[in-house]
Amino acid sequence: MGLQWLPALCVLSVLAALAVLVVSIVLAVLAVRVVLPTLPWKSYRSPILQAFYADNFVLPLPDGHRFPMPKYRLLRDRLQRELMDVTLCPAPAASGGELALVHTPTYIDAVADGTLPAAAPREIGFPWSPAMAERARRSVGASVAAARIALGYGAEPAQGVAGNLAGGTHHAYPHKGGGFCVFNDLAVAARLMQAEWLRGRVASTPRRKPLQVAIVDLDVHQGNGSASIFAGDASVFTLSLHAAKNFPFRKEAGDLDVDLPDRCSDAAYLQVLEQALDELERRFEPGLLLYLAGADPFERDRLGRLALSFDGLEARDRRVFDWAWQRRIPLAFAMGGGYGLDIAETVQVQVNTYSVALEYWRRWNVAPTVASCA
Ligand SMILES: [Zn+2]
Repeated sequence: MGLQWLPALCVLSVLAALAVLVVSIVLAVLAVRVVLPTLPWKSYRSPILQAFYADNFVLPLPDGHRFPMPKYRLLRDRLQRELMDVTLCPAPAASGGELALVHTPTYIDAVADGTLPAAAPREIGFPWSPAMAERARRSVGASVAAARIALGYGAEPAQGVAGNLAGGTHHAYPHKGGGFCVFNDLAVAARLMQAEWLRGRVASTPRRKPLQVAIVDLDVHQGNGSASIFAGDASVFTLSLHAAKNFPFRKEAGDLDVDLPDRCSDAAYLQVLEQALDELERRFEPGLLLYLAGADPFERDRLGRLALSFDGLEARDRRVFDWAWQRRIPLAFAMGGGYGLDIAETVQVQVNTYSVALEYWRRWNVAPTVASCA
């Protein structure tokens, strides 16, 4: 063969290489767009369980303040590293109108403007600051967003499970806060979901009857604000398991209150929880469950008086998620209290709650869903 063919051979080689490249790209696109979606594991590869955070609004607290503000950021960091399927979303702020479903306009305005009476910040436990007001709104917005996702909203179908990385502010009353709680996130979420349900904004409805909401409050402190807000409201059932000798010392009557003795252990707690869920089922038919997964029943919590272990608390979470799942009741959850002697242990309890939540999200969402924070 003469050397005169060399340039033509080079051109042909380049063209062949280009053709192989184009065919490879086409095959790769077809694989991603057509073949992969039909494989059964697709639902496990998308970002899934949605969880809302507001830890970017950090309260300026005085030195030595006992509220463990860093725990929120630590939880988000650990979820980001270890439970990568959890879709972390910035919390929207609840509007004044949404807050007014539970709170008085005077109180909402005073929190917004910083014109609370002098005693109010002491009762809440935080000094007023613009960040405190903003964070309080976002903490409510996070629970509202989680409840909408769990229940389905607009054209979005129910995902069954979604969470708030903070919230669980169950000591807040309509006209005042208390015990590190400014607004009552789960109370606002309950009322707002009921209103949206009636207006046909919830995707999964047959709206034969109004939405009934159960608040299952397993923080170590009684949900006095929630109990008071829904006293006499038959459409919201408040269940609280708490340490009898702990804050708040004047407890409100909820629909089902269980006072627990000091140092209550895993087995005794789980037995009482089982009985409480049985009674809830006998007396009420929820269409939505709002779960306050407090980390403060933990045995090494500074402010709890109970003695639950990591395993006991995980079993508690699993029981609540499973109870809701067996009845196909959508569940939105908030973190609530947690004041561990070692704050890393509080965060570990909360990470465990998210692991269980993820498992139940997967049970709900057999069909593939791709979550986003839009
Ligand atoms: Zn608590």
